[in-house]
Amino acid sequence: MHLHFLGGARTVTGSQYLLETSQARVLIDCGMFQGSPNESVRNRITLAYEPRDIDAMLLTHAHLDHCGLIPHVVKEGYRGPILATRATIELAELVLLDSGKLQEEFAKRGDRWERRHPEKAATEDAEDAARFDAAVELAEEGAERWSGHVPDPDDPETQLRSQPAAIDVDLDEPLYTERDAQAALPLLRPVEYDAEAEVAPGIHATYLDAGHILGSAIIRVRITGEPGGPDRTIVFSGDLGRRGTPILRDPTALTHADFVVVESTYGGREHEPEGEAVRILADTVRLVSEAGGVLLVPSFAIGRTQEVVWELDRLLSVGQIPHLRLYLDSPMARKATDIYRRHPECYDEETRRLLEAGETPLDYPGSIVVNTSEQSRAIARAPRPYMIVASNGMLTGGRVVGHLRELIDDPAATILFVGYQGEGTMGAHLQAGAKTVRIDGQVRDVRCRIQSISGFSAHADRSELLDWVRGFVDGRRPGDPGVPRRVFIVHGDPEAEDALSPQVAALGLEPYIPCWREAVDLG
Ligand SMILES: [Zn+2]
Repeated sequence: MHLHFLGGARTVTGSQYLLETSQARVLIDCGMFQGSPNESVRNRITLAYEPRDIDAMLLTHAHLDHCGLIPHVVKEGYRGPILATRATIELAELVLLDSGKLQEEFAKRGDRWERRHPEKAATEDAEDAARFDAAVELAEEGAERWSGHVPDPDDPETQLRSQPAAIDVDLDEPLYTERDAQAALPLLRPVEYDAEAEVAPGIHATYLDAGHILGSAIIRVRITGEPGGPDRTIVFSGDLGRRGTPILRDPTALTHADFVVVESTYGGREHEPEGEAVRILADTVRLVSEAGGVLLVPSFAIGRTQEVVWELDRLLSVGQIPHLRLYLDSPMARKATDIYRRHPECYDEETRRLLEAGETPLDYPGSIVVNTSEQSRAIARAPRPYMIVASNGMLTGGRVVGHLRELIDDPAATILFVGYQGEGTMGAHLQAGAKTVRIDGQVRDVRCRIQSISGFSAHADRSELLDWVRGFVDGRRPGDPGVPRRVFIVHGDPEAEDALSPQVAALGLEPYIPCWREAVDLG
């Protein structure tokens, strides 16, 4: 029995794990690599498996770094079921269609640019090709770390691996189109939380609430019927949310597993307490109001936007902030909010109570939903003060970039980060205190105020991750039944993974940080 780490290993995107038993092959998540070009080029590397041979795909949640590669894998021949909660299915439909569309637009824009700048384009193509080669090398290095495995030359997997990784890859083509995404959607099949089902021969999966975004799940996989081996349980954390966050239930605590695969986005950091986060939000809104300025909150469309609106609505209703106009500038967030509304079965007690009391916790009074890009541009002429919540959360694309262009050198503007800023992104530069940034090829001074709140993160911080992992050993000793033999640390930048590892060891568990495309033997 083997587990292949095909993404989310030494990096925070591209989550994808292949579980191979003697009877079946199942993928857990099928995420897209995002962020820097060195990362995204990995989406183009030949798949590590033959998609037709995969029996089932289990999806933890609808963020692109967990589901974004699905249309590509379906295009390459996958025909099995893609199992997810109902809310995840609706959100995944939204993000996959959008992703296909964006990639087509991106490729078209790239084409036009190449025609206008043939020389620069040639240099860029060469850089892309070098990045691709480096990624191929990295993939091969990882595959070689498959310790103790003796390759069978007749095995199709081995034959696939022995092929050169790059075959006719056109890096300028869209990875997949909106039509490709559409074609993948009929494979999505609903599962219920907390109900175990056999998803492939000898592989049983239970989806447990992860409290990260609507519909998100921790997936517990139980493997039965392996020759000569006892049953085994592997728990995939997916992305773990935080206790006490708005709207959603807390992440499910688990106590037994043979192996745990745990995310580590914030493995090296602590969030400020939630009360503190709310206080900073309230202070920031008041300051912007007094200064007659603009508050720009770059926010992910799914999850973060709904939580920020929830908090602003709360603060307003208890009189802690003045009533500023709020522009919600993200067509995707609007659609995601509609999906949130359709799934009250995923809400926590507090949100249910608010709904029963006739409140509308997913709405801010008088908020203006911005539909067209003309309306988006017109916001700059609106009387101040006001607030904008716009996507995306790392300032790497979407409507928020237009607002950044307007506000970057405006001392009366505040940019408030409420989520994770990936390495190398515009958001990370600003957060690190950059004095100038390059927008549309121009160097611009940063004169606006930059403020960050990490307490609204959808991800557990270091202590919360450790609390969750501790549940698997609490009151018992290593070697006792149900205490994991190994804890695989994934889905984190190298510093985060390295920071979490000794802490897991201190709990008496054996941490292991796999590298990309590495496979490990689970005995
Ligand atoms: Zn996520």
